[in-house]
Amino acid sequence: MRCETALPWLVALQDDQVTTAWRAALLRHLHRCPSCRAGERALRAATPRPERVIPARWRARLDGLTVASLVAVGAAHEAAGAQPPA
Ligand SMILES: [Zn+2]
Repeated sequence: MRCETALPWLVALQDDQVTTAWRAALLRHLHRCPSCRAGERALRAATPRPERVIPARWRARLDGLTVASLVAVGAAHEAAGAQPPA
């Protein structure tokens, strides 16, 4: 794989929007290519993903939340007299 092919796919790779075979090909290229590897690292640093910044034990709890449950929590806080954050 050439850099011109790999670079446009780095965002899709990070978002896990590539097939297993294409992912393997991209990862092989990144393994061999310091330039694309640096680009991938810079892209990752510029676009933090929840899975990287939220600890796993919190993510497990957040995954179970729905909009309805968040609205219910907000209503309960409001009923208790809590003010929303400014
Ligand atoms: Zn490359």
